[in-house]
Amino acid sequence: MESQIRILVELSEADRECHRVRDRVQNIPRELARHESEVKLKRATLDDLERRLEDSQRERRALERDSDLAKARRRELEAQQFRVKNTTEYQAMSREAEEMRRRSAEYEDRGLVILQEEEQLTAEAAKLRDLLTQEEKRFAEVKARLDGELGERREALQGREAHRVALVAKLEPPIRKRYERILENKGDLAVASVENGSCGGCYYQLPPQRLHEVKKAASLVVCEGCGRIVVWSQL
Ligand SMILES: [Zn+2]
Repeated sequence: MESQIRILVELSEADRECHRVRDRVQNIPRELARHESEVKLKRATLDDLERRLEDSQRERRALERDSDLAKARRRELEAQQFRVKNTTEYQAMSREAEEMRRRSAEYEDRGLVILQEEEQLTAEAAKLRDLLTQEEKRFAEVKARLDGELGERREALQGREAHRVALVAKLEPPIRKRYERILENKGDLAVASVENGSCGGCYYQLPPQRLHEVKKAASLVVCEGCGRIVVWSQL
């Protein structure tokens, strides 16, 4: 029985290691996806800023064109004004010229406001572009590192799983079944060693008789607190 218990201890260690490596193997892609989505979010914000900037430039150019048209019309009216003899017509032209002056001034004012907004957007976009360049570079580095680590861990996991299979093969079927059942229930550790007279899995204080049985290692002792197999730590 003692040799079987030794195998159980080793198997439990191998399972814990497999569990740890498997966790890491599953976490790496998640970690990368999280990082990538942060970069994508920044990229989308920058794209949005650049679109707003283009819209704004387009609007400002349209205002400049409208203002130029209004000015040209005003000059045209002012040139014609002196040739008309009719007062009513003269006044109508004056009103229209005044209206053109007012409009061109209004378009120019609006254009200036937009220009100021554009300057802000341009500064904001430049800052974000710098940040994004840095982040994309960092992400590429992290990805290269984590992809490398993932390859290594997967390989390591294969090795550990093979080791586990070899250990399991050395166990007597009833002991193996018992171990597997406990592992399935506990999810992490099926074997706990005694620490200061207590089960190392749940800190349940083992009665002296139980401690004696654990030390003797003539039979499998299961903790009454957590259901794990308890082993002597110096075993
Ligand atoms: Zn326990």
